[in-house]
Amino acid sequence: MMRIDILTLFPDMFQGPFSESIIRRAVDQGSVEIFLHDIRDYSEDKHKKVDDYPFGGGAGMVMQPGPIAALMDKLMAEREYDDIIYMTPDGQRHSQHLANQLSLKTNLIILCGHYKGVDQRIRDHYITCEVSIGDYVLTGGELAAAVVVDSVVRLIPGVISDETSALTDSFQDGLLAPPVYTRPANFRGWQVPEVLLSGHQAKIDQWREDMAWQRTRKLRPDLLSDES
Ligand code: SAM
Repeated sequence: MMRIDILTLFPDMFQGPFSESIIRRAVDQGSVEIFLHDIRDYSEDKHKKVDDYPFGGGAGMVMQPGPIAALMDKLMAEREYDDIIYMTPDGQRHSQHLANQLSLKTNLIILCGHYKGVDQRIRDHYITCEVSIGDYVLTGGELAAAVVVDSVVRLIPGVISDETSALTDSFQDGLLAPPVYTRPANFRGWQVPEVLLSGHQAKIDQWREDMAWQRTRKLRPDLLSDES
């Protein structure tokens, strides 16, 4: 079973995403355990302060190393972790490839920053992998961590009921997914492509492959040049 420990100042932000749909099912069926740790609980300050002014001056506050290190040390004394991830806009861009790799791990820590981020010494001495969900700045790492956890947990074998369903998603084979249709076959005069109603599986598979290539060439040609 995979175990994910999330270190955050705002554990309640995960209540929505983790208590619905696929992640909830994955937790309920024992495919993943997710533990939320409030970094503030590890502050030794009498007011439970966890941030301070940046050395050298400048705007914003910085998360202090003490509480994060105390929490990391406690967890790392209890078990070995495959990766200790820091969510940060200057990290490597999250991708389906990274989600696949992370889905094979057993124990992960994910650290969520806030304010101007965490003291660099935590990054230097604890973090093994820094991940960004895109070139924009969020208020904190919680939403980004929820995105990463969702993308990883749905890839754990047995989590999605039809296991081939994750395999046919966009990016999984380097292509965008083909379009999908459901009943009714005629909606407001808008017809489903004939081939999908033909019952001829080989033709349907070929059509889907052609559409995947067509859409990728049109919408994301960069995916094809990355491959070559
Ligand atoms: N000062 C930081 C910088 O310019 O790189 C940004 C700090 S941001 C306001 C606070 C926290 O949100 C970060 O420490 C990080 O944990 C999280 N965060 C913000 N944008 C993110 C992104 N695109 N991907 C992952 N985490 C992000």
